[in-house]
Amino acid sequence: VTARAKELKAEGADIISFSAGEPDFDTPKEIKRAAIQAIEAGHTKYTPVGGINELKDAIIEKLKIDHNIAYTREEILVSCGGKHSFYNLCQALLNPGDEVIVPSPYWVSYPPMIQLADGEAKILTTTEATGFKVTPKSFKDAIGERTRAIVINSPSNPTGAAYTSSEIAEIAKVAVENEVLIISDEIYENIYYGDDKIVSAASISEEAKAITIVLNGVSKAYSMTGWRIGYAAGPKELISAMTRVQSQSTSNPASVSQWASVEALKGPKDKIDKMTKLFKSRRDLMVSGLNDIEGIKCLVPDGAFYVFADVSELYGKKFEGNTINNSIELSKFLLESAGVAVVPGSAFGDDDHVRLSYACGDDDIKNGINKIKEAVSRLS
Ligand code: PLP
Repeated sequence: VTARAKELKAEGADIISFSAGEPDFDTPKEIKRAAIQAIEAGHTKYTPVGGINELKDAIIEKLKIDHNIAYTREEILVSCGGKHSFYNLCQALLNPGDEVIVPSPYWVSYPPMIQLADGEAKILTTTEATGFKVTPKSFKDAIGERTRAIVINSPSNPTGAAYTSSEIAEIAKVAVENEVLIISDEIYENIYYGDDKIVSAASISEEAKAITIVLNGVSKAYSMTGWRIGYAAGPKELISAMTRVQSQSTSNPASVSQWASVEALKGPKDKIDKMTKLFKSRRDLMVSGLNDIEGIKCLVPDGAFYVFADVSELYGKKFEGNTINNSIELSKFLLESAGVAVVPGSAFGDDDHVRLSYACGDDDIKNGINKIKEAVSRLS
């Protein structure tokens, strides 16, 4: 869909994209300045494989301030993005046939990265009925002989669902009792609209910390997707094994990006608050617009910048003689006849939905919704 949207744009079509996976804001200027200073100071050589101490210390400080969890440098690994952190983890953790429970809808990259390590992604389906969240019972029932870990991504891509602190505590309890690791992907933690804060499983107790790997990065909170800095915090043995994997593959993440990330983590946080406020009003615009369209419905997401809309009522309807049967066909229809790019839910393991990103301006949201509404009204 993204490729076709690009083609149509190149042909001069007026396409509105709801497919972005990154904030539409620029990287804050003080972060850019820190990168320029790093270049000028000669920080342009190899660094220690697992990251410079200054960045490790900034991460340790961040995790202490935000979650009251104490880590040492040996428990931190800086990698080339949160995706790389997850990849290293799978390579270090999984033996052939080991299972990782992946709640669906899931971020597209989890199952392939597990498979690349010869592991198996055990998909645990969640629905609107539980707010797209795993329950302690569904988690427990999914645990088998070969289960090594569960992925908890809160707030979630693609649903925006976020776990409350008591829900996280219950998940952690099941994980501790069954010796299952929690892979806690917290990359969207700052883009959260609730009154409280996102709670990390690692902060629940010492036992929970011992079985949790926190994954995070600077991509989403600081609009730094292109800088490629992510990190993992977890048990020393696992971090050490992940560091060895990284040592023989990419070595250190880019030195300049590491220095820019020190500034991101230690500098002012006002831009995050501003961005989150804006995202919240866009979310409201998107959700109310979508729920106003007959045949489309969606929950109000708690965080991230995506809406996961149920479009299954539109399946079976026809456009110019062609029946729409699934999320790919619906996404193609929206692109070709409404000029709006969305991501089919099948990519996230849920064919009844499509994902719409609101990392775009209010006008695009309003125009895009109107175009979808008009196109859907032409279905018969
Ligand atoms: N985790 C989730 C759920 C994501 O959506 C993404 C990016 O889209 C990432 C991790 C990784 O981001 P990055 O590799 O840019 O740090």
